[in-house]
Amino acid sequence: MKTDIRALSKEALRDFFVKNGDKSFRGNQVYEWLWVKAARSFDEMTNLSLAVREMLENNFVINHIAVDKMQRSIDGTIKNAIKLHDALIVESVLIPTKSRTTACVSSQVGCSLDCNFCATAKLKRMRNLNADEIYDQVVEIDKQSQLYHHHKLSNIVFMGMGEPLLNYKNVMKAIDKITSKEGLGMASKRITLSTVGIPKMIKKMADDDVKFNLAVSLHSAIDEVRSALMPINNKNNLEDLLDSLQYWYQKTKRKITFEYVVFKNYNDKLKDIDALVAYCKKIPSKVNLITYNTIGEEAFQTADKGVIHQYVKILEANAIIVNVRKSRGDDIDAACGQLANKMD
Ligand code: SAH
Repeated sequence: MKTDIRALSKEALRDFFVKNGDKSFRGNQVYEWLWVKAARSFDEMTNLSLAVREMLENNFVINHIAVDKMQRSIDGTIKNAIKLHDALIVESVLIPTKSRTTACVSSQVGCSLDCNFCATAKLKRMRNLNADEIYDQVVEIDKQSQLYHHHKLSNIVFMGMGEPLLNYKNVMKAIDKITSKEGLGMASKRITLSTVGIPKMIKKMADDDVKFNLAVSLHSAIDEVRSALMPINNKNNLEDLLDSLQYWYQKTKRKITFEYVVFKNYNDKLKDIDALVAYCKKIPSKVNLITYNTIGEEAFQTADKGVIHQYVKILEANAIIVNVRKSRGDDIDAACGQLANKMD
């Protein structure tokens, strides 16, 4: 089997050429073709001789992703079904607002967590995405941003399929490439990683001195409610989560964003709001309230509008920043929690 050339670092590529009797800078040229110019074949690498291109062809493959299907929502959101080299499918979304475009990318094929309200959780976790498969999604969405909105992608959120902290190494490698001048050159502060909240990995990120933003899917600040929504909370409870977030804040000085879906009958009581306020007071944070997007499960419903207002009023009265997130792309099942490879 030929090696995937994109799994090689720049140094490894340089070494390869030296070992094969060529100059090391040839490695730089190929690296630029692969990562800056996003070449899909060796034939495109026109500043290399035919002999070099043939030599590469004989040794390597360029595994790349392809947009298999694309759907546009009436609100301009684009959902892409992305086919990987082994024919598995993930989804990536372009979310436009007036002033910016955001890419929502996947980190795993399916998901191993069982959040009861999430459509992706119903899919089996098949495998982790490689760093380049994550990076390529961003490249594709950046192209769509330029085509439809005439400017480059402004933000990236790791809020697609999968749990990014369970594919730590590849997600970090992809982010390095996204922010590198030899990749897309995007600013780290425009990237947000969203997690169910795995304390050990949150501490590791803080130790690794990452520069992007952290969002945590909280959904309840009461252990038994959170465990009923997200079984992972049985193993990683709110206290351990808080401990890791305090560690994160100490090291990075960056506020945490809590994502919080307000569900009817689960977290729509005053005691739920009070618990959230108390939790937020223990850690510099802000709250994004999300309405529940249906996934065809009758067990869950979005809370009444009045409840959301009440959340906003009480959080603001306690000087906690709160945003109510409008659902985007829900007509094409592209909204939060709806990604489940359901494209016609
Ligand atoms: N595994 C990571 C990344 C996925 S992000 C995480 O959980 O954070 C997807 C976001 O959408 C999470 O905040 C998730 O809790 C939320 N979500 C999942 N299902 C949803 C639904 N049906 N409606 C609204 N939000 C949902």
